[in-house]
Amino acid sequence: PDSPNGICGANADTIVTRNFLRAVSAGSGCYIHIVENTARNLKNTALAKGELKGLRALDRLCDLLDIDGSDAYDKAVKVADAVLDDLYKPDFEKMVLTEKIAYAPRYKRWQELGILPRGAKSEVFKGVVKCSTNLNSDPVDMLVDCLRLGISTGVYGLTLTNLLNDVLLGEPEIRMAPVGLRVIDPDYINIMITGHQHSMFVHLQDRLTQPDAVEMAKSAGAKGFKLIGCTCVGQDLQLRGAHYTDIFDGHAGNNYTSEAILATGAIDAVLSEFNCTLPGIEPICDELKIKQICLDSVAKKANAELKEFVFENRERISDEIVSEIVDAYKARRGSVPMNLLPDHGNDNTLTGVSEVSLKAFLGDTWQPLIDLIAGGMIKGVAGVVGCSNLTAGGHDVLTVELTKELIAKDILVLTAGCSSGGIENCGLMTPEAAELAGPKLKAVCKQLGI
Ligand code: SF4
Repeated sequence: PDSPNGICGANADTIVTRNFLRAVSAGSGCYIHIVENTARNLKNTALAKGELKGLRALDRLCDLLDIDGSDAYDKAVKVADAVLDDLYKPDFEKMVLTEKIAYAPRYKRWQELGILPRGAKSEVFKGVVKCSTNLNSDPVDMLVDCLRLGISTGVYGLTLTNLLNDVLLGEPEIRMAPVGLRVIDPDYINIMITGHQHSMFVHLQDRLTQPDAVEMAKSAGAKGFKLIGCTCVGQDLQLRGAHYTDIFDGHAGNNYTSEAILATGAIDAVLSEFNCTLPGIEPICDELKIKQICLDSVAKKANAELKEFVFENRERISDEIVSEIVDAYKARRGSVPMNLLPDHGNDNTLTGVSEVSLKAFLGDTWQPLIDLIAGGMIKGVAGVVGCSNLTAGGHDVLTVELTKELIAKDILVLTAGCSSGGIENCGLMTPEAAELAGPKLKAVCKQLGI
């Protein structure tokens, strides 16, 4: 820079950490928003005595959080309340579930360092305040806040969201599933879903398979409705897809693949509730007459209809969505070009891997995996996770090439988020990908048929 300091006197360290804290606070706010809505949806479902698909997951969560209840509904309400109570704690009170969820030695270290998070929403609020004009100028102080935000985001926004979803939506089961653009069947009214808040789709998912709704689709000329997975919520639906085989056709692709999915012409509506619903899809939706509906105002797209999900109004909201999507189907089919890619992707991607399902697959013990690592058959486990990025060579190039390098060196790869959407579409989660692995990992895959 021409000057070592900004006009207010802030130096480069202050400016960089201030921007970093702003980004971390915003990111934490996103995922705390998700866990808050998930806990509220679980609580509302339990109060309405709705279906809880993961009762074993509920019992495990109750054990973990030391919660007891008279029945499953009572337990679910108490679990949801415990999460919400923590999220809403003030800035001067630490959250209490962190210790129960986190890895104990890591929790101890956080305690020693004084970085245990206070109420998660208060942490976000404080971060936003600190990085505003001419407030905090201490880079270390701001970075410590980033650590606290990281802990609350990881423990609550990621881990607890998943554990709550297991209760409401059903636990992942290991199975083979189709992925890629091939999952789109033009004979159906197809709804592409984008976001991260699977619990908002529960009522609609059921509604779309009820006889009167299917009849509406049939009278419009389709066989029925299908949900087409895209971005993280599609990945989550795929993970739990064993419970949704009648409505979910498969995960078509990740964030930037959404444009290609729409360009097939066979998607009639986009339902979004969070990121990543790219602004770039808006002109495509306009051109191809694809109905856009947003269920959460935080993800409102400029030319989409906002139909804010309110649990109490779920029946009316689902009915309106069904009727509007049938209208969109009737208005667009026959007048927009189809560019299907039935060979894209594959039919046998391994999915449904969770801590619980993987341990069960191994015979209810981690010992076989530990033995393989200790014996040198697997050199280790690496995570290739999170958003797919366009900057390193193009869409999915870095994540796919990195994964190929790792497995060639006998390193097992664990993947999640949009990275996995690309990695699976490129065939790296099929049994055939064992051929690309190093000799030891290949032998393990062949033996297990994965
Ligand atoms: S993994 Fe990243 S890019 Fe994909 S939907 Fe989630 S936030 Fe968006």
